[in-house]
Amino acid sequence: MNSKPDSQRMEKIVSLCKRRGFIFQSSEIYGGLNGCWDYGPLGVELKRNVKDYWWRVMVRERDDVVGMDGSILTHRAVLKASGHEDTFSDPMVDCRTCKARLRADQLPEKNGVKQCPNCGGKDLTEARPFNLMFSTQMGASANPDAIAYLRPETAQSIFVQFKNVLDTARKKLPFGIAQIGKAFRNEINPRNFIFRSREFEQMELEYFCRPEQGMELLEYWKEERLKFYENIGIPRDKLHVLTVPDADRAFYSKGTYDIEYDFPFGRQELEGVAYRTDYDLKQHQEASGKPLDYFDEETKQRFIPHVVEPSAGVDRTVLALLCNAYDEETVTDEKGKSETRIVMRFHPRMAPVKVGVFPLLKNNEQLVSKAREIVATLRPHMNVFYDETGAIGRRYRRQDEAGTPFGLTIDFETLGEKDAALLGTVTLRERDSMKQERVKISDLLPMLLARIT
Ligand code: ATP
Repeated sequence: MNSKPDSQRMEKIVSLCKRRGFIFQSSEIYGGLNGCWDYGPLGVELKRNVKDYWWRVMVRERDDVVGMDGSILTHRAVLKASGHEDTFSDPMVDCRTCKARLRADQLPEKNGVKQCPNCGGKDLTEARPFNLMFSTQMGASANPDAIAYLRPETAQSIFVQFKNVLDTARKKLPFGIAQIGKAFRNEINPRNFIFRSREFEQMELEYFCRPEQGMELLEYWKEERLKFYENIGIPRDKLHVLTVPDADRAFYSKGTYDIEYDFPFGRQELEGVAYRTDYDLKQHQEASGKPLDYFDEETKQRFIPHVVEPSAGVDRTVLALLCNAYDEETVTDEKGKSETRIVMRFHPRMAPVKVGVFPLLKNNEQLVSKAREIVATLRPHMNVFYDETGAIGRRYRRQDEAGTPFGLTIDFETLGEKDAALLGTVTLRERDSMKQERVKISDLLPMLLARIT
């Protein structure tokens, strides 16, 4: 069962993203550039945490995966051989009434008749394929042969560099090549905030193997990827695995799973995990005339490796984290007044800011210098936010909205003024429970590190 769309919740999330500096419309002061988004100070940290954690578990912590970083501008021949130039398209229709261009497979239906979602018109053209690739002209001459594409996925540069990586990294099958980077698709209808944009980032692994290992590795990677999402704080019951039916799968794929998440606008794909057989390497070997095969020392056989590909979207993962984290609750303050607390319940590993440091009063030099000292100790290890202005309750609330899991208050107890036993301790406030406890300054770093890594 698909979850019910909740547009009100989505509006609140989009508005918080703008208000708190997670995500802004690109070129906003000029009216916005449709399908493009800019990440603000909090958003860029969140996104970086997603990418860093992916790189850590997919590359650094494994013996069998190496990384690469390919160019975005791509030789036309690469995307001709991969099939993108001829077939990377979505079906498009025009609405004759309001002239909107629409994706044919996403049209709403009423009484079995397809309608324009803009004006409700039913006078639509036949569907025709619209190629999603952005092309550009390379160099100064306006030679039509000088076309290059902005890559529509990161994967192709991995296939094209397969031999170079194999020869230099000296890996034996099975092994993988991973990449994180921008991809571009001229989507007909960018929508749902950053879910479907025209410029986005992907995190892709091409895991090369022997033909007989393909199906087993498809299962393995699906499970690994589910674990990844759980480890960044997305509960398993909000994730779904769709076995892509034969008719919807690329013709060369022997099996594909979509990992989906229950977004407020419905259940949608976060990542595809596909067993792509030897299709890509074969295509590039044929088109380039360069061997892209593998020599097996044990069996003395030469063959083109097969590949399993987990392909995830960075922005979609960020959106899932934002949607998952957003929470409102009613709290009662010390005076018995109740108010709504907005809190982003990010997993501490993903939170853009790990800890807020607050001297109780900004005009007390001792409190401020102690707080500054703590900031200096923590900063090399984590993102710290220092804030000395306003009531302490208000400072906590601002960090709740940013999703900062911990707050430290440096008060007169810290200085030993009230109780000698509390000298050198601070108040640690936990975002989710709002519980406060006294912690020794000397214990802070190891304690926080254990909870954020
Ligand atoms: P969709 O069906 O939603 O268009 P897709 O199946 O074409 O996606 P893939 O080609 O499998 O997507 O790309 C792999 C991943 O890249 C997707 O699972 C998604 O996370 C991300 N991605 C693809 N297109 C976009 C986009 N327009 N905006 C943001 N992320 C995208």
